[in-house]
Amino acid sequence: MQKQTDEIYMKEALKQARKAYALEETPIGCVIVRENRIIARGYNRRNTEKSPLAHAEIAAIKKASKKTGDWRLEDCTLYVTLEPCQMCAGAIVQARIKRVVVGCMNPKAGCAGSVLNLLQMESFNHQAELTTGVLGEECSEMMKQFFKELRQKKALCRQQSREME
Ligand SMILES: [Zn+2]
Repeated sequence: MQKQTDEIYMKEALKQARKAYALEETPIGCVIVRENRIIARGYNRRNTEKSPLAHAEIAAIKKASKKTGDWRLEDCTLYVTLEPCQMCAGAIVQARIKRVVVGCMNPKAGCAGSVLNLLQMESFNHQAELTTGVLGEECSEMMKQFFKELRQKKALCRQQSREME
């Protein structure tokens, strides 16, 4: 039952990731759920906004806080297609989000267990429940496809510039 619910909301996070993809941004999407309703959505807009803070999770946390009128998101679950970075994991702890559901892991930069697990440090005043690998295949496939296309575009650019010489 929980698994099915998680997959439904991860699909919504994937829809957000597709919006980033359409902007040629690394496809990462996020939704925040409270009482079985999506209260906020977000996707990566780092290049579009020229801001290192424009991550999917930060956008969604901002919207959720605005909507609820409270910086505490204690009864919320955050769904994100890629394991959160240190900034987003920090914001999740700051917002006291109850539970985090991750699509695929990010071995080189993830802070929900890969590089470290900021979400469940005993020494902080808040720990989030954590579920990983929900629709992990779909989430990592979208990332792979994105980087594959990016490499092809770069190769095409190099080829064109050689032809002009
Ligand atoms: Zn982040």
